[in-house]
Amino acid sequence: MSIKDEVLKRKTFAIISHPDAGKTTLTEKLLLFGNLIRSAGTVKGKKSGKFATSDWMEIEKQRGISVTSSVMNFPYKGFQVNILDTPGHEDFSEDTYRTLTAVDCVVMIIDATKGIEAQTLKLFKVCRMRGVPIFTFINKLDREGREPLDLLEEIENELNIETYPMNWPVGMGKRFLGIFDRYNEQFVQFNGNEEETYIPYADLDKPEHANLVQNPTFVETKDELALVDEAGNEFSLDAVLKGELTPVFFGSALAPFGVQTFFDTFISMAPAPTPRKTTEGVMSPDNPEFSGFVFKIQANMNPAHRDRIAFLRVCSGKFERGMSVKLARTDKPIKLSQSQQFVASSRDTIEEAFAGDIIGIYDPNAYRIGDTLIEGKESFEFDELPQFPPELFKKVTAKNVMKAKQFKKGIEQLVQEGAIQLFKDFRTESYIIGAVGQLQYEVFEYRMKNEYNVDIMFESIGERIPRWLKADQVDPNLFDERNLLVRDREGEAVVLFKNDFSLRWFIDKHPKVELIDLFEVN
Ligand code: GDP
Repeated sequence: MSIKDEVLKRKTFAIISHPDAGKTTLTEKLLLFGNLIRSAGTVKGKKSGKFATSDWMEIEKQRGISVTSSVMNFPYKGFQVNILDTPGHEDFSEDTYRTLTAVDCVVMIIDATKGIEAQTLKLFKVCRMRGVPIFTFINKLDREGREPLDLLEEIENELNIETYPMNWPVGMGKRFLGIFDRYNEQFVQFNGNEEETYIPYADLDKPEHANLVQNPTFVETKDELALVDEAGNEFSLDAVLKGELTPVFFGSALAPFGVQTFFDTFISMAPAPTPRKTTEGVMSPDNPEFSGFVFKIQANMNPAHRDRIAFLRVCSGKFERGMSVKLARTDKPIKLSQSQQFVASSRDTIEEAFAGDIIGIYDPNAYRIGDTLIEGKESFEFDELPQFPPELFKKVTAKNVMKAKQFKKGIEQLVQEGAIQLFKDFRTESYIIGAVGQLQYEVFEYRMKNEYNVDIMFESIGERIPRWLKADQVDPNLFDERNLLVRDREGEAVVLFKNDFSLRWFIDKHPKVELIDLFEVN
């Protein structure tokens, strides 16, 4: 098969949702379709004490959540499906965001009883801003949820995106009868179990469906649907692929109901890998020479082998195990050995991969996040990976001062991995760690102890609003503990404003000081 054909088969995406919206349940159903697991319940973890296929680190087991984004892949109906797992909000880390740079589209799950939940909004917005195509699955239709129109309006307003309902639910909760599958022009009947009955629109007036068709909920919804047909947005695959319109599927991951139709339609529409921007123009996925970038580095994934794995998104050409490539940053050759593909902690050695695939390669401490690897002679780098705004800040010290050396080493390595963001107090030089979510501190503390044998202490300085200063505008006298002046990794001056009020007060008082917000999303 040609490289082009291989690329066209790839469907690489992430599922994003608020915790408890149903990501694990839906992922499990998809893995069942892919025959990766045999029965439901294998993936379900958390409360039952079992752990999700995608959860692997010790700390994940303790907390019952997935900290690291893992990769699941399987063939499905002629396609090669790559699902990247992402942690939900409280578990947010930069990993979550960076994972989005390695996928070609996302599936956003929304709990029909809750709608868009504030904490997760930012993750959705990052996708929207980056123009990542978004497919929406509105889950838990078997429960009494919010009105479909209301949910669609919320998505449109909050994300500034058009919606196109691919199907329309008839009733909810106890009155749930099924969905009008608008896209395939059929009614999918809910029978209270896994069995779905597909009735083409044209057959609905057959006598055997009289009961259904005369049901008041059905009649009412038909009128509602007529309105949606009339007044709703037009479907446009082009708009979907530009990330301007999200196809919306209603269903229930648990029942399961509507999942098969959702997945089949999604897979047929989801984009194959597209050309990626580099410093020297765009790189086509079917370019014969291999290229890719590192979007995540993980140390000590398996305590039995102390190792570091770099996760690589293949962007062009053909990856072959053991091949020699060039590390663009250093311009030095490097051999890609011990390549692996992941289904959580079980690793299969992988012999070849194409654009869209995610592989784990052994990292002899050579890679950095964002690194570009190239097979050919040219020199270029893929677009820099975006940094994401830390919101929480804590001072950190080693409990035992004698351990200063390990402490420093641990911090430096974890910073390089991109697990945390490091700042230093402008005056005292003490370490301050910025994180996107609370869990990062726990992981950090755990890893410092387990991998570097250092007990650490935190002193919270709370949620802060970071703003960067121009070098010639740094005046330490303007700042105190309240609006703390620090330096970032690169030595740039940053003010950690106590809150919005302090920030506005400062701007008012010192209009000449330019405050730079490095992050577009807030
Ligand atoms: P995650 O945190 O997003 O991975 O959510 P889970 O998949 O763990 O689901 C959270 C809870 O919601 C679990 O108790 C699920 O059984 C339940 N759940 C998931 N999907 C559905 C659904 O379609 N209907 C109902 N009633 N419950 C669901």
